Amino acid sequence: MASVKLVNVNKVYEGGVHAVHDFSIDIKDGEFIVFVGPSGCGKSTTLRMVAGLEEISYGELYIDDKLMNNTAPKDRDIAMVFQSYALYPQMTVYDNMAYALKLRKVPKDEIDRRVQEAAKILRLKPYLDRKPRNLSGGQRQRVALGRSIVRRPKVFLMDEPLSNLDAKLRVAMRSEIVRIHEEVGATTIYVTHDQIEAMTMASRIVVMKDGFIQQIGTPNEIYQNPANLFVAGFIGTPAMNFLYGTLNADGTFAIRGSDQTVTLRSAEKELLKNYVGHNLVYGVRPENLIYEGDERFMQFGDASFTAKVGIVELLGDILNVHCTVGDIDLVVKIPNKYTIREHDVIRLAVETGYTRFFNETTTKAITADYNEYEEVEVTKSLDEDNVTIIEQKKQGVFAKIGNLFKKNKKK
Ligand code: ADP
Repeated sequence: MASVKLVNVNKVYEGGVHAVHDFSIDIKDGEFIVFVGPSGCGKSTTLRMVAGLEEISYGELYIDDKLMNNTAPKDRDIAMVFQSYALYPQMTVYDNMAYALKLRKVPKDEIDRRVQEAAKILRLKPYLDRKPRNLSGGQRQRVALGRSIVRRPKVFLMDEPLSNLDAKLRVAMRSEIVRIHEEVGATTIYVTHDQIEAMTMASRIVVMKDGFIQQIGTPNEIYQNPANLFVAGFIGTPAMNFLYGTLNADGTFAIRGSDQTVTLRSAEKELLKNYVGHNLVYGVRPENLIYEGDERFMQFGDASFTAKVGIVELLGDILNVHCTVGDIDLVVKIPNKYTIREHDVIRLAVETGYTRFFNETTTKAITADYNEYEEVEVTKSLDEDNVTIIEQKKQGVFAKIGNLFKKNKKK
């Protein structure tokens, strides 16, 4: 078992693709870290740099505090599990798991001990004499994991190991891998594009986009306090709703493209006190919008708005109600005991304490400890030639950031 540390790791491929930018993380011994993000965001590249299959362009990688940049993959004491698990078809489950140890000339009784132990953890004991073709997809995937477990590596790296399995098996294997991780306790880095896998398996999630880390946190931190609009929209199904609009001086939020305003609660007004007149995004998850027919509506009705119902999806206990406010699309989760139909106009209240506000310009979340406009004041004035001067005051210091119209004027 081991700690893994990446310090400003970058990957620039030949041809100039800068696939990973300044990736830094401190992974503690025994953690289960999931890298998640859309295809092409740099997850596999980062994992392959940890494995040593891809050179680190610049930055440092440490395993147990030892610099690994120039260590050969086989000497890093890492096991990599891929989505395509090639088992040897002519060998039994036992021999598939024992093979790597035989090559390393591990004594026979030690091999047997390790294979039996791995088979117990993986619940493969009844199948040790079978050939892979006589196993289910999930059992084969467990044998592939078994081959790694018997080697007792310091770190497990898994690249979308479940993506070849059907939906039901994927769900089952998710909890299997979590259970196996709890038993084996090895530091694990797991790559997936599936945010549900990330949420259900990780001790900490790293959300990536375009080669940059967007946020690192526990599943709950990422869900409750997304750092920016990308994370807020990527984690959670259906995704968080974004009401675009502006904050009025009277503490109401004017929804763009409609004549509706939502009254903000006092804590929200305090948080947003420096944002009057700014373009903001009012984020609220589908489960935190309460239908007017619901008994909880009265409790939260002080902040509400109306929406026009489009498609209603029946999911069993819950209806996913798609609706619009002006030209903004929303999804609301409403208990199935209510009857909601297309074209209905419904009133929705916002549950207190579950809103998240973003600066539309920077896309960053506005939080109590991060308030980018706190000390910034932008002023415009005219100079002697009637040219507009734009100045920015930040923490008491004035800086001239441009005189926009001079160029045009001289032409
Ligand atoms: P992910 O695993 O998140 O889908 P990858 O790490 O595979 O993303 O790829 C990140 C970026 O690097 C992508 O833009 C991809 O096209 C590019 N890339 C991956 N491998 C190579 C390569 N060998 N040469 C050049 N570019 C590559």
